[in-house]
Amino acid sequence: MVTKPFNSFEMAQAQFDRVAGILDLDQPTRDLLRFPLREYHFTIPIRMDDGTARVFRGFRVQHNDARGPCKGGVRFHPQETADTVRALAMWMTWKCAVVDIPLGGGKGGVVCDPHNLSLREQEQICRGWVRQIAQDVGPMRDIPAPDIMTSGQHMVWMLDEFETIRGGRYPGFITGKPVTLGGSLGRAEATGFGVVITVREALKELGLRAADTTASVQGFGNVAQNAVKLYQQIGGTVVCVSCWDQADQTSYAFRKKDGVNLGALLGITDRFGGIDIQKARDLGYEVLPGEAWLEQEVDILMPNAIEHQITADNVGKISPRVRLIAEGANGPTTPEADAAIRERGVFLIPDFLANAGGVTCSYFEQVQSNANYYWEKDEVLGKLDLKMTSAYIAVSELARKRKLLMRDAAYVIGVSRVAQACRDRRWV
Ligand code: GLU
Repeated sequence: MVTKPFNSFEMAQAQFDRVAGILDLDQPTRDLLRFPLREYHFTIPIRMDDGTARVFRGFRVQHNDARGPCKGGVRFHPQETADTVRALAMWMTWKCAVVDIPLGGGKGGVVCDPHNLSLREQEQICRGWVRQIAQDVGPMRDIPAPDIMTSGQHMVWMLDEFETIRGGRYPGFITGKPVTLGGSLGRAEATGFGVVITVREALKELGLRAADTTASVQGFGNVAQNAVKLYQQIGGTVVCVSCWDQADQTSYAFRKKDGVNLGALLGITDRFGGIDIQKARDLGYEVLPGEAWLEQEVDILMPNAIEHQITADNVGKISPRVRLIAEGANGPTTPEADAAIRERGVFLIPDFLANAGGVTCSYFEQVQSNANYYWEKDEVLGKLDLKMTSAYIAVSELARKRKLLMRDAAYVIGVSRVAQACRDRRWV
């Protein structure tokens, strides 16, 4: 039997349709919000280090900007598709709305694998991406940021190209910049910390003390590393993390039942979040097949890697002990798996609420960059905690009041704010 490949955009649209039904949205609003406002598809020709020419495919999707300029990262991924970027752009719209920051949703991508590209080649791709889109993005229109396999260094190359084309300094054009070049303190930690702030609030609701809980984390990139850091700081024990192994083209899980040591693991991790298997074994970690992260007997699961990870095929392997799932990644749970999780009564913090800390801090970065006045780290993290906690409480109160799942409640808040902005502008 040929199974249809999983399509994130269809999933995002189905999630939207469900909430459009709950909100009884009119047809024009549905037609407007089911699709991006604008999208750009382009090619990026570059010169490789060996002198040959190669052409990469790039995208920018601007889903909605009724509440403010579009905002969202640029991913470098070999399996990137227009539909993945469309879905991620739509989720950014709801994400900015649910934390109530004055920004819309966008996302970008390049089909490439930075594992196989030199830094110079990656720089050419960043600059080429900006050259193709420079007239349609900017601090008042659409503000890119890092995402999967892009970092502060990539943001600097993009900023430099944009400023060269536009002639001037526009530090508010992009976020996730290094702190030495207009970035915000706390931005690197923000997404992972935000995930754990929502976990902390959910644990209160479930009547659990963080110190009595254990967690298993999928991924070991920026989001996962910082989620582990804050979760350990609030007293939790992480028994398992996982990562993609580029050499073997598969993923592995790294388990230590009495708790992983973050510092030691970071010492044997590459810049893509890949953990050295042999060195991990030497440090006493059990190295298991990647999917083992999902099968651990823990209280909390944090899928902090990429979309489409908890599926109909593996959802049954989740231990009956699991009480809470916090989606640090965008779209990690397929609708079938979501239904199974719902039936089992596991409390789930949906992606665009759980991982909104990154864009919230990006908003703070933009405010600081535009004002050219930078805050202390404690101030940034304090404001982040306030925004994430208020968003969490608003969603959980609505969920209780209207007897909704957390995902639906987050959607109701996010989508109704965006729909209202569209009505206020008389778009619909
Ligand atoms: N890429 C992150 C996300 O998916 C952050 C986006 C941003 O900071 O604009 O939320």
